[in-house]
Amino acid sequence: MQMDNPLLESYRTLLETLRRDNLLRIIEDRDSGQGRIIKRGGRELLNFSSNDYLGLASANTYRNRTGKVLHGGAGASRLLSGGTAEHARLEQEIALWKGTETSLLFTSGYAANTGAVPALSDEETVIFSDELNHASIIDGCRLSRAEKTIYRHLDMAHLRAALSKTGCRKKIIVTESVFSMDGDIAPIDELAEIASRHEALLYIDDAHATGVLGGGKGSLAEFNISRQSFIIEMGTLSKAAGSIGGFIASTRLVREFLVNRARSLIYTTALPVHAVTTSIENIRMIRETPDLIRRLWRNREHLYSGLRDMNLDTGRSRTPIIPLILKDNSSALRLSEFLSSRGIYAPAIRYPTVRSPRLRITVTAGHQEDDLETLLSRLREALSAGLL
Ligand SMILES: *Cc1c(COP(=O)(O)O)cnc(C)c1O
Repeated sequence: MQMDNPLLESYRTLLETLRRDNLLRIIEDRDSGQGRIIKRGGRELLNFSSNDYLGLASANTYRNRTGKVLHGGAGASRLLSGGTAEHARLEQEIALWKGTETSLLFTSGYAANTGAVPALSDEETVIFSDELNHASIIDGCRLSRAEKTIYRHLDMAHLRAALSKTGCRKKIIVTESVFSMDGDIAPIDELAEIASRHEALLYIDDAHATGVLGGGKGSLAEFNISRQSFIIEMGTLSKAAGSIGGFIASTRLVREFLVNRARSLIYTTALPVHAVTTSIENIRMIRETPDLIRRLWRNREHLYSGLRDMNLDTGRSRTPIIPLILKDNSSALRLSEFLSSRGIYAPAIRYPTVRSPRLRITVTAGHQEDDLETLLSRLREALSAGLL
């Protein structure tokens, strides 16, 4: 167990300095819609903080499924008057679900990665990033002043060697748990052990694991790893949670630090409250309906075994993301067009999104058994037509 991670220590120091200099930012959410008069901390205030110049953010109201009246646009950054009690409630729901002290909302997963990665790393930091990490992580690394080391995909020996070689004390390992184009799974247990041994932070992008692995809780639950302060988890509400928004699930310290340092949080408008409420409802649905995830995995196993029976190259997929790896771009395009002409949409993915061209097939809980059989029989046709 890692006791005093140097990066966590530096966050604590910075927050103390900001507090001393009266520069600390905190989030204080509204208890009302956006508008001329807002409620904050139980008091009604005449509001001079919004960017809702024409009053339209508060003009239209919506009712959620429980009948609660909601207002639309946030009208400002979360650090001004952009957030509401619903934003705070969603953060609590996420923390409860993920088993963390807190969570922090961003407007998207892209914003979470491009905000958190550079905020968490300074010029004395080395970021160790898997070569197949998502573009939002790569962009986060580019925005960071840290030194970057790219390790070969899931190659733990390479990562260990790179960590041993660095003289720097501040280190962050950044990885996806489920890789979005390959559907393979990072060895989160080994990564946690490596991070602990090298006093590094472990930053996990759980975009495709949330609502999918670990009974929906994500990769840490899947690997039975208890929460530790050096593990920071990122996720999105736009995939299994069926809504929009990104989040960081972490300790209070990391959250407070990000509130003060993550530019994609500070300098952008908060999520509209209807999106927030949709996320709350959908997370509850996932937690209360375990059959959804069971159905997802039943469908995944059905399709996967059908593809294996045809001896197709599905790479290292172990999740509902199943690539069909093809020999070149034109084969990928031809197969995708063939399927399209037979009523199936499975897009071809090519460079620079991936190195080896493929069809990326994603299976969901919404598919019926017939749907999976239809896809399999169309692929069998493609196989006998020499398209695969
Ligand atoms: C989709 C995705 C994101 C971005 O999430 P959005 O909410 O769509 O912006 C980040 N990381 C990974 C691995 C993703 O697949």
